[in-house]
Amino acid sequence: MDAAFTAEDEVFRDEVRTYLREATPPELKYKVENGIEMKRDDVIGWHKILYKKGWVAPNWPEEYGGPGWTLTQKYIFDEELGFAGAPRLVTFGINMCGPVLIGFGTEAQRERFLPPMLSGEEVWCQGYSEPGSGSDLASLQTRAVRDGDEWVINGTKTWTTKAHWADWCFMLVRTSSEGKKQEGITFVLVDLKSPGIEIKPIILMDGLHETNMVFFTDVRVPVENTIGEIDKGWSIGKYLLAHERMSGGSLGTHKTLLRQLKQIATDDEVSGGRPLAEDPDFAHEIAKIEIEMRTLEAFNLRALDKLSKDGELGGKALGVEANIFKIRNTEIHQRLTELKMKAIGYYANPYLISALSHGWNEPPIGAEYANGITPGYLHFRKVTIYSGSNEIQHNIIAKAQLGL
Ligand SMILES: Cc1cc2nc3c(=O)[nH]c(=O)nc-3n(C[C@H](O)[C@H](O)[C@H](O)COP(=O)(O)OP(=O)(O)OC[C@H]3O[C@@H](n4cnc5c(N)ncnc54)[C@H](O)[C@@H]3O)c2cc1C
Repeated sequence: MDAAFTAEDEVFRDEVRTYLREATPPELKYKVENGIEMKRDDVIGWHKILYKKGWVAPNWPEEYGGPGWTLTQKYIFDEELGFAGAPRLVTFGINMCGPVLIGFGTEAQRERFLPPMLSGEEVWCQGYSEPGSGSDLASLQTRAVRDGDEWVINGTKTWTTKAHWADWCFMLVRTSSEGKKQEGITFVLVDLKSPGIEIKPIILMDGLHETNMVFFTDVRVPVENTIGEIDKGWSIGKYLLAHERMSGGSLGTHKTLLRQLKQIATDDEVSGGRPLAEDPDFAHEIAKIEIEMRTLEAFNLRALDKLSKDGELGGKALGVEANIFKIRNTEIHQRLTELKMKAIGYYANPYLISALSHGWNEPPIGAEYANGITPGYLHFRKVTIYSGSNEIQHNIIAKAQLGL
């Protein structure tokens, strides 16, 4: 089943596909397809290409630099990015802090922060989680104490993705201990060059440096960098999380993974003579995941239809659909990476981190595409944890739908 789009939408899809085919640098496409580590320049370079085309922030209103697309066009663009093998952008500015500034910032804050966020001149990261506060985020302890026109921030943030690439961090900090723990939290923007900030890498099990611990010792931040009201940052933080949940990987990426899986399953060199696709158990696994993907696609299109009628993008208008999407989307993503690993059998065993670096010149063990598969499997274990773990998403759905 392929979704029926209008003739205009199909013309738009052709335009996007043609552009992405020509504009995606081949070396980046190669890196994406083979699970090779992206450098900052790779990702920011791609951001700047999309910016020049006017396509870097599909969800922003036109007055702030968005392309003015319909919801369907945004959906198509997202899917085509996945088909094109385009690198994923650093999501924290464009998809999270941007919508918050547009929704809750002052005009002066928008003027200061949106243009360099859009152009890729300033890269952002997200300072929510702390060593003792992940799922129970409202218990966060990083404290901001007011001193005249400045906040003085002390505390530790953890898992901060791309902090080592970033110029700015949007943070939730505790500004009051009165009342419920959700009260007394404030949303602030922090310049990562400020004195008193130390960033230390956390190396994940795929061997790559993506996340960090960030330590704040007497870091001074202008109070004018507060977004929304002091002590009322929790609702802004939650608004942002809904955007985060809807921006976690597209069906285009999944469809590309499925195509690769089918290619492996029909490659008789991998299975030693008999293509894996002829194995009824494996064929069943492939059919099952494809059905699940198509069900998610139908769910997405229904949500798209609802949003088009309600006229709003993001978790607010969607409600629990955003939570359901997060769960199904991430489970399918992980399942696809797991099946690819199963499909290459013992070629998944040698895991050489250096094979993922540019310049590695040893011949691949087995098929060339095997190199990135185990790292890809390990890498995407994270998706069911971040943006609010899937267990927490289940809790939210149970509360909202069943009143539990
Ligand atoms: C790769 C990666 C990147 C990340 N990037 C960022 C980032 O850039 N910025 C940022 O702020 N954070 C980031 N995070 C943090 C992420 O949001 C947290 O890891 C997540 O919210 C879970 O919190 P925790 O790790 O403290 O686990 P915990 O909250 O301690 O949970 C541990 C386990 O218990 C389960 N659990 C907890 N409470 C409940 C409950 N009430 N009911 C049922 N099950 C429960 C969880 O689902 C989980 O399985 C990142 C995490 C990872 C792994």
